[in-house]
Amino acid sequence: MNYLSLNTEIEKINRIGQATAKKLKKLGIRIVNDLLFYFPFRYDNFGQTIPINKLRAGESANVIGRIELIQNKRSPRKRLHITEALIYDGTANLKVVWFNQPFLAKNLKTGDKISLSGRVETDYSGLSMISPSYEKLDPRNLQSLVHTQGFVPNYHLTSNLTQKQLRFLIKQIIGQADKVIDWLPKEIKQELKMLDLSQAIRKVHFPKNEADIKKSRERLAFNELFLVQLESQFLKREIKLSRAEPIIFKEKETKEFVDSLPFKLTDSQRKAAWEILRDMLEGKPMSRLLEGDVGSGKTLVAVIAMLNVVLNGKQAVLMVPTEILARQHFETINKYLGKTSRIAILTSSQFSIFPPKADPPRADNFQFSSDSDTKQKISKKFILEKINNGEIEIIIGTHALIQENVLFKNLALAIIDEQHRFGVEQRAAILSRSGTKLSPHLLSMTATPIPRSLALALYGELDISVIREMPQGRKKIITKLVEENKREFAYKFIREQIEAGRQAFVICPLIDFSDKLGIKSVEEEYKKLDKVIFPDIKIGMLHGRMKPQDKEKVMQDFLDNKTKILVSTSVVEVGVDVPNAAIMMIEGADRFGLAQIHQFRGRVGRSEHQSYCFLFTDNEAGHTKKRLVALVNCSDGFELAKIDLKFRGPGEVYGTEQKGFPELKIASLFDYNLMKLAKEQAEKIINKDPGLNLYPELKKEAEKWEKEVHLE
Ligand code: ADP
Ligand code: MG
Repeated sequence: MNYLSLNTEIEKINRIGQATAKKLKKLGIRIVNDLLFYFPFRYDNFGQTIPINKLRAGESANVIGRIELIQNKRSPRKRLHITEALIYDGTANLKVVWFNQPFLAKNLKTGDKISLSGRVETDYSGLSMISPSYEKLDPRNLQSLVHTQGFVPNYHLTSNLTQKQLRFLIKQIIGQADKVIDWLPKEIKQELKMLDLSQAIRKVHFPKNEADIKKSRERLAFNELFLVQLESQFLKREIKLSRAEPIIFKEKETKEFVDSLPFKLTDSQRKAAWEILRDMLEGKPMSRLLEGDVGSGKTLVAVIAMLNVVLNGKQAVLMVPTEILARQHFETINKYLGKTSRIAILTSSQFSIFPPKADPPRADNFQFSSDSDTKQKISKKFILEKINNGEIEIIIGTHALIQENVLFKNLALAIIDEQHRFGVEQRAAILSRSGTKLSPHLLSMTATPIPRSLALALYGELDISVIREMPQGRKKIITKLVEENKREFAYKFIREQIEAGRQAFVICPLIDFSDKLGIKSVEEEYKKLDKVIFPDIKIGMLHGRMKPQDKEKVMQDFLDNKTKILVSTSVVEVGVDVPNAAIMMIEGADRFGLAQIHQFRGRVGRSEHQSYCFLFTDNEAGHTKKRLVALVNCSDGFELAKIDLKFRGPGEVYGTEQKGFPELKIASLFDYNLMKLAKEQAEKIINKDPGLNLYPELKKEAEKWEKEVHLE
């Protein structure tokens, strides 16, 4: 295979046709290098080969033998194709049965030597294997068993691509692993006794034993954690070197504001607000993470910080990851601060100011450019000017703020909601446009439930405030795992709730790993509910491929109670606030992480109405059930994150996607020891050589990582 290199396009690999190449591309695999870095998510352990006369019913095993007999049968009643074979290995015979794979009898012939792996069953005729994995043995090369012996890797797949195909491909190009540049500094590798990168890649795909799995996973996970830590340490250094505008605490006005609220602040909110205000008194930039479960009231804490900034005659910006969230924050902040400050929203599709003139504000004064009948046209340019001359004091926006090259007059506070969705460059871009020589204070917010100790390790550059308690008067959300045969009852219940004035969310999982945006599954579910189950009820649909304006419209209709049910992918997860929604129904619940479902659940229970969360799953495995039952019994996001981890199956290299964390392919953030090691090493490197000039390969990798991780 001398013609191959890491950059060879997959079409050029032997025996990959256009069709296969297309499927691989759906998984993000474009070149040889991508294949090497497409890690398995778990392994089947078929162990060593067992003589047939030593097999025991109920165990998984591998046998090797000769095909004595193979034939196809049809079961007319059930329309089943049955392939039966008899295998002999010199000790005894074993019966093997496959269903609906008639081509098998063409592939496998009497006399072929074959390796089989699967569970051993027993019935009146003796021992058998039903639908085992099989692999023909090449008499010239008995060492090359890939699918049926030892630890067999399993990969996430897309439609019609098989584990066998992928294993075969990776086996073909695995030698290219030796060309991968190992960017981890030698001194670190030696000190921690880590595998070389090429060895780690070879072993993660084709481990010979448990130790191979452990060592390779450790090295590959370290790669990721080390890059996370490098970024943190770099930021920490930057912060240490910069100066900020002190923000004086306006005690009287703050108290008046808090007293004017229709509710009392929780103790945690009070404490967090105080920690922020205290930080901002300093002449060095605050760098604080505000962590709190969904619905714990982080926004209000941010509002108190912004209020003080405005009272100091400075500007504040709030950056959020989605249009929907921007809109929602804009409305909330108008409500709280519209009387005293001028506030603008700027995203790719929304730009307006509140209040539009200096007049006393009115609730109907919102101006949205996307409305064709907007009376007062406000252009982006106009808003950018007003931000630049300081007339606008609070700016709410998305990434668009950076694309539009916003330039502030005197930005003193940048707040970043769902901070993991933004990267260093984006944060830096906003901070560098502050309009002053000083660095703005930085407040990040996240609902990601991670223990404080872990957060400190993970975000080494940040101080942390945690909101642990929920506002008073919230009713506990009733969570139920609903059996498939009770589905009708659930629908009936939803109908009653809607008739009583409430609204419902329906969340759909990704049915196909390549359907990354979940369009297919949402469209199918929508059709079913709209046509069959609730034909008389107005239903909205939301997924990631929709245009921002369309998403906006769907969300607005739901907020305005025009649609009663919203069918959505996980895009609805982040921060959306619809107090009238009282039902959260989750399809395919086993496909989400517990922490993620907990986030969905946090979308309801935001008002005085009793709220419900219904979990559906067609996965009957006991361990899946147990995991979901944890959600029924536990309403604490921190606890759930821990439980989620405990429930990972043995041999699982990495588990369900952990939304809300930096996107890590193989590392677990709960791998506390590895994280600590990564932190120590990153600290050492940054202290010694902050520009990474001694480590050109590392530098390149860090830059690449930075781009991949933060830009979707
Ligand atoms: P999150 O922390 O998820 O961002 P929000 O800031 O959106 O939560 O707050 C959730 C809801 O709780 C909002 O409707 C808000 O008005 C309300 N809220 C915030 N603080 C309190 C409080 N101390 N008492 C009662 N309700 C509150
Ligand atoms: Mg929020």
